Amino acid sequence: MSNANQILFNKAKIHIAGGVNSPVRAFAGVGGTPVFISRAKGSKIYDTENNAYIDYVGSWGPMILGHSHPHIIEAVKKACDDGLSFGAPTPFETTIADKICELIPSIELIRMTSSGTEATMSAIRLARGYTGRDKIVKFEGCYHGHSDSLLVKAGSGMLDIGEPTSKGVPADFAKHTLTLPYNDKQALIDCFAKFGNEIACVIVEPVAGNMNMVIPSQDFHNTLRQLCTDNEAVLIFDEVMTGFRVGLGGAQAHFGITPDLTTFGKIIGAGLPVGAFGGKREIMEHIAPLGGVYQAGTLSGNPLAMRAGIAMFELLTQDGFYDKLSEKVVYLTDNLEKLAKEAGIAFKTTHLGGMFGLYFTDNDLPKNFDEVSQCDDKKFATFFHGMLERGIYLAPSAFEVGFMSSEHSQEDLDKTLETAKEVFANMAQA
Ligand SMILES: *Cc1c(COP(=O)(O)O)cnc(C)c1O
Repeated sequence: MSNANQILFNKAKIHIAGGVNSPVRAFAGVGGTPVFISRAKGSKIYDTENNAYIDYVGSWGPMILGHSHPHIIEAVKKACDDGLSFGAPTPFETTIADKICELIPSIELIRMTSSGTEATMSAIRLARGYTGRDKIVKFEGCYHGHSDSLLVKAGSGMLDIGEPTSKGVPADFAKHTLTLPYNDKQALIDCFAKFGNEIACVIVEPVAGNMNMVIPSQDFHNTLRQLCTDNEAVLIFDEVMTGFRVGLGGAQAHFGITPDLTTFGKIIGAGLPVGAFGGKREIMEHIAPLGGVYQAGTLSGNPLAMRAGIAMFELLTQDGFYDKLSEKVVYLTDNLEKLAKEAGIAFKTTHLGGMFGLYFTDNDLPKNFDEVSQCDDKKFATFFHGMLERGIYLAPSAFEVGFMSSEHSQEDLDKTLETAKEVFANMAQA
């Protein structure tokens, strides 16, 4: 590979902290130099020297229609002509709110934000304001953005007070956050037995996509829902990633669970900065100006993002969209497993809708963060670089998932598989 990326990365590091505006982009998880992208179209992204890569990151989820989809670009161009931001209500905000409420029955009222982080942060403040309680529960390996209360891991004892995972988060904040092992029904039962009437909310990725991919058991979700109801704690489904990714109804439709609040982001903005949180009317009515929980945003409900989102929903709601997407994911993951097996490489996959996880492991599919951590991240890094060198762009970390778009062609999938075959063969010889 040429050293263009190295030169660009060195330049970037002069005035951008670490050379990136979000840490995972720096390739720390796999080593090497990040690829600088200059443009993208359909299933492919192109670096500054016009090398094409088949892209399975999709801007970390939003690009479910592929890049530069003509329908989205047209909507955004029209929106640009009408002005970029007004700081006053627009009819487009109502259109997208109506659409989301129609598609996700648990949502009666919604608020738009500019990022997923803002959505989860606001949902948590709302849950605290609504219940008058301080404690929140989250799960090990789930990511909910970078607000203070959520950058917390479990303390040394199982039901101990939390410890910050980032410097700069006051211990006084972290002590209100309880972190439990994911997908562990007994830990939930124990936690609620001890703290039930102090818990404002539980926030969960209903399918985890930030510790590679873990689909939890139905029993875990049923228990979680029941315990929240019994203890009058707010159940927040963080569907920033899974919303409109695993299916039109999100992970909540997949599990048949009605959360009290849901957060969105990524797909609903079609690639523009966006987030949203919504849910039960009775809870949402506690937000200003209706109630006493403050939440706001200069660019919230931005007309470009709303009009891109509306155009996005026009295509996502077409018959068979998710069936086709899911068929591609199944084709890719099934064949990757087959090829790895033929090469004698211990490798497994999982998937739901338009997302998939890849694991280098001899064990069963990981069920929680500890088990994901036991997968071979060195093998992953070798695989990642082998694929990248040959024009396949996977997420640069063994703790991230893969995303399929509607624009990935059969040819793209077969090229990916041929490439994987070659990389697996090299790995088997090493
Ligand atoms: C990406 C993500 C977030 C954060 O969203 P940003 O837009 O990056 O702030 C929150 N929760 C989940 C589940 C995510 O995947």
